[in-house]
Amino acid sequence: MYDDSENYGLSTRGIRAGQVRTAEGEQSEPVFTTSSFVFDSAAQAAARFSGAEPGNVYSRFTNPTVRTFEERLAALEGGERAVATASGMAAILATCSALLECGGHIVASNGIFGSTALLFNNYLSRFGMKTDFVPLTDLSAWEAAIRPETRMLFLETPSNPLAEVADIAALAELAHDRGCLLVVDNTVCTPALQRPLSLGADVVVLSATKYLDGQGRCVGGAVVGSGALVGEKVYGFMRTAGPCLSPFNAWVFLKGLETLQVRMQAHSHNALRVASWLETRPGVERVYYSGLESHPQHALARRQQGGFGGLLAFELAGGREQAWRFIDGVRFISITANLGDAKTMITHPATTTHGRLTPEARAAAGIRDGLVRIAVGLENVEDIIADLEHGFRAAG
Ligand SMILES: *Cc1c(COP(=O)(O)O)cnc(C)c1O
Repeated sequence: MYDDSENYGLSTRGIRAGQVRTAEGEQSEPVFTTSSFVFDSAAQAAARFSGAEPGNVYSRFTNPTVRTFEERLAALEGGERAVATASGMAAILATCSALLECGGHIVASNGIFGSTALLFNNYLSRFGMKTDFVPLTDLSAWEAAIRPETRMLFLETPSNPLAEVADIAALAELAHDRGCLLVVDNTVCTPALQRPLSLGADVVVLSATKYLDGQGRCVGGAVVGSGALVGEKVYGFMRTAGPCLSPFNAWVFLKGLETLQVRMQAHSHNALRVASWLETRPGVERVYYSGLESHPQHALARRQQGGFGGLLAFELAGGREQAWRFIDGVRFISITANLGDAKTMITHPATTTHGRLTPEARAAAGIRDGLVRIAVGLENVEDIIADLEHGFRAAG
């Protein structure tokens, strides 16, 4: 029997944690596609509804397949509880809705995921939660932005697409000194490479759509943290408001967790090879990847992360036109703005993920017209590099 109290390694936890074998003796976890659960008696139904007896009632509240995914993910992140959600955005919405009140102020890093910034600016603001944005790596700017009513610091590290790295432990200390929670979006590294809770963060949010799935099939998300914050508050919001994860998607993600450790090591290996090669290419002005010695926070990334992940960006001197020629010149690499897939993907941030920003806001975020982002996949790295060579030829 697998026992969580043993101090197992990450691969073992990703493969074994959370599984409850049924009487059928199945080796692989089953999918419980059922919306409700039956009771032995009216008395048992009453006891389940009142909470006097633990057990399943309805799949918006709990579902065995979803619970296996949650327990496996919690074991990987090192949190007491995980709550699965319908998407990564639903995880962020549930976290803010459950942990903030009207008037609660958020300080967030510049350049967070576009929909997260829109959620904060256009929707949470209508419920009295205002957000100020600061440069991710500037600790004194974080400190200066905290007001008496600030309740939450929110960040992504490494940032997407410029791979800036925040010092999670330093920001956790600052947050706690000032009575705030630190929330880290761990989508880009995943728990295979970075465990923010162990560095002092209070809550981790994830888009499971990306590397937890790993093959671009399903949309989902999760919130991980303590029993008090996530097990009670976030779970209470989720089961009432209803952005729950479907059992089938939970099954895809829990199977994805079984290979997360080896996949993230392979993504990191391929991306470092591609980034190092790009640095040697004439016409490349700059490569953004925390695994490079030339990266300004390389030492911090090395200390804080167990690897550097699959996401990188680089800048071509010839602006948008050259970047588009490059992207149109590759053959098998997919032109798509997603990340976290076995298939390598390429995108032009200035006209896609950051296309809705004003030119001034884009410049402030450091997204130049010649920037190209690559989510390096798991194909043979020699083939990825050869395909990018087609891009360079087309770019001229
Ligand atoms: C994709 C993404 C999200 C949102 O996740 P969805 O599953 O698309 O809702 C949030 N944060 C980061 C860093 C992401 O890449």
